[in-house]
Amino acid sequence: MINLILRVLRCLNKSSIYKIFYLQLVTILIALLSVLSAILIAPFIILVSGESLSTNNPFFQKVFNLVAVFNNDDLFLYVSIIFVSFYVLSILFTLVFTYLNLKWIQDINVFFKKNLYLFYINKNWLYHSNISSKGIISKIESDTNRLGNSVILPFLNLVSNFLISFIIISAIFLVDFNVALISMVTFSLFYLFFYYFFKKKLRKAGDTVTKVYPYYLKSMFEGFSSIKDVILFDKKSFFTNFFSENVNSLKNAHITQSYLPQIPRSLIEIIFFTLLIGFTFVLVKSYNFKFAEIGAMMGFYGICALKVIPALQKIFNSFASINSNISAFINIENDLINAKKISLKKEINTSNQKIKFQKIIKLDDITFTYPNNKKAGVFNVNMTIPWGSKIGIVGKTGSGKSTLLDLILGFIAADKGEIKVDEVIINNNNIKYWQKNLSYVPQNFFIYEGTIKSNIGFGLDESLIENGKIHNSLLLAELNEFIDNETLEVGENGKKLSGGQKQRVGIARALYKNSEVLILDEATSALDTITERNILKNLENNKNLKTTIIVSHRFETLKMCDKIYFIQSGKVEELKNFEELISKYK
Ligand code: ATP
Ligand code: MG
Repeated sequence: MINLILRVLRCLNKSSIYKIFYLQLVTILIALLSVLSAILIAPFIILVSGESLSTNNPFFQKVFNLVAVFNNDDLFLYVSIIFVSFYVLSILFTLVFTYLNLKWIQDINVFFKKNLYLFYINKNWLYHSNISSKGIISKIESDTNRLGNSVILPFLNLVSNFLISFIIISAIFLVDFNVALISMVTFSLFYLFFYYFFKKKLRKAGDTVTKVYPYYLKSMFEGFSSIKDVILFDKKSFFTNFFSENVNSLKNAHITQSYLPQIPRSLIEIIFFTLLIGFTFVLVKSYNFKFAEIGAMMGFYGICALKVIPALQKIFNSFASINSNISAFINIENDLINAKKISLKKEINTSNQKIKFQKIIKLDDITFTYPNNKKAGVFNVNMTIPWGSKIGIVGKTGSGKSTLLDLILGFIAADKGEIKVDEVIINNNNIKYWQKNLSYVPQNFFIYEGTIKSNIGFGLDESLIENGKIHNSLLLAELNEFIDNETLEVGENGKKLSGGQKQRVGIARALYKNSEVLILDEATSALDTITERNILKNLENNKNLKTTIIVSHRFETLKMCDKIYFIQSGKVEELKNFEELISKYK
C-alpha cells in the first residue's frame, strides 16, 4: 500500500501533494473532536439522572474528580454547553473538510486530465496511428476519475478513519480494557475475513471496467458514425448487441464494486447491538450497577460505536475501493509520469520562431519504414523542391505518396537520410518551426462540428477570425455558395456538406493559414474537372502562395506541375517530362 501511494505521489505536482497533506491535518482535528464529544456524554447522562458523580470505573472517577470543583447546577449547564459546542464544532469541521476534500480531489482529477490531454496531443502521428482514440478517451475520462475518486480519496479516508478509530479505541481502552480488547479483536477479525473473501472479486470487477470501457465507447462511436452502413447492411442488431454486451459487463462490475463492500456494514450492526445488550444485561444482573452509571456507559459506548463503526466500515470500503480500481492507475501510470515531464518542458518552450524557406527543400537519401510494417514505407528517396515551384507526385494506390508527404510535413521522422530546408536540417527540435511554413489538405479531411467560418479559421476564437481573409479563402477555394453564409452549421464531421464541399472547405482552411508551402494530398479528387481547374488557377494567381506539392492521379493536374515525381513501392524517381508519365501508365 505504501509503495502504491508513493507511485501515485510520483505522478502529482507539488501543490496537489500539499493539498493531500493539509487534508490529513484537518482529519486529525476531527478525530480529536469526536473523541472529546464521546467522553463528554458520560458526565452529561449522569447529571441528567441527578445522581452524584461517583463510579466504580477508575477512568470516569478521574474525570468526575476533575470537575468536582463546580456545584451540580453550574456543572450541568457547563457540560451541556460544552457538549453541544463540541458537537457543533465537529460537524462544522466535517462540513468544511468534506468541501475541501471534494474540491481538492477534483483539482487533482483535473490536473491528471489536463496533463494526459497535453501528453497525447503532443504525441506524433505515428503514435496516434498505432493506438485507438477510444483508449485515450477512456484513460482521460474514466481512468483519471477512478484514480482520483476511487484510489486517492479512499486512501485519504483510510488514513483519517484509521486515526479516528485509533483514538476512540484508545479511549475505550482507558475506560475498560476488556471491552476494548473484545470489541477490537471481534471487529478486526470480522473485517479482515470479508476483505480477504472479497479481494479477488473486487480486483476482477475493476479490471473489467478498465478493459471494457474503451469497447463501450467504441460501440457508440463506431455505431453512430457509420450509420449509413449500419442501415444498409442491416447491422442494427449487431451494433446493439455489441453495445449491450459491454454495457452489461460494466453494470455487473459496478454492482460488484458497490454492493460487496456494503455487506459487512449490516452484519456489524447486528454484532454491535448483541454485544451492547449482552454487556448491559451482564452488568445489571451480576454487578447491580446503578442506572446513571449504565446510562453513562451506554452513552459513551454508543457514541464511540457511532463514530468507530462507520470509521471501520470506511477503512474497509477504502481498501475495497483501492483494490478494485488500482487497475485504472496501472493503466495510466506511465503516461502520467511522462505527461508530468512534458508539461514542465512545455512551460519553458513557447517560442514564435520560424525556419526561413527561400531557396530549396531537399530530401537526401530518405528511408522510412513503419515500425509495425517494415515492408511499407519509402526507400532512398532523393527529391529537390525549389522555392516557388509546383511539384506533382503520382503513383499507384498504396505506393507511399502520403507517407512521403508525412515525412515532408514532419508527422513522421526518417529512419535514415535528411530533409534540409535552405541548409537547415529538420529534426525533432526544429520541426515545429518548419511546420509554421506549411499548409496541408489531407486525403481524409476532418470537418469539425461548427460553422463554415470556424472550420476555415481553424483553432481560432470566433471573434479573432478575420472576415476579409475568410472571404478571400472562400473565393480561392471556389466556395462561392457559402459567401455571405459563413455561419452555416456543417454538422458533425460535415454531415450536412457534399463530399466536394468538404474538400473545398479543406482547401479554404489551408489557404486561410497563408503559408509558404501548400501540400495537397488528392485534395481535389471529389471535384469535377472544371472546379478543380478553377481552384488550381486561383492558386497560381495567389501571390501569397509560393510553393505547391500536389499528389494527384489526374493528368490534367500533373500537367500544370514544374516537376513530377513517380513513386512505386516506396521508390521515387523524377520523370523527365509529361510524356514519360503517360508511357509509365501504359
Ligand atoms: P493512396 O493513393 O491509396 O492514398 P499512398 O500512396 O498514399 O496510397 P500510403 O498511405 O503512403 O500510400 O501507404 C503506403 C504503405 O504504408 C501502405 O502499404 C500502407 O498500408 C502502409 N501504411 C500507411 N500508414 C501506415 C501506418 N500508420 N502503419 C503501418 N503501415 C502504414
Ligand atoms: Mg495516400
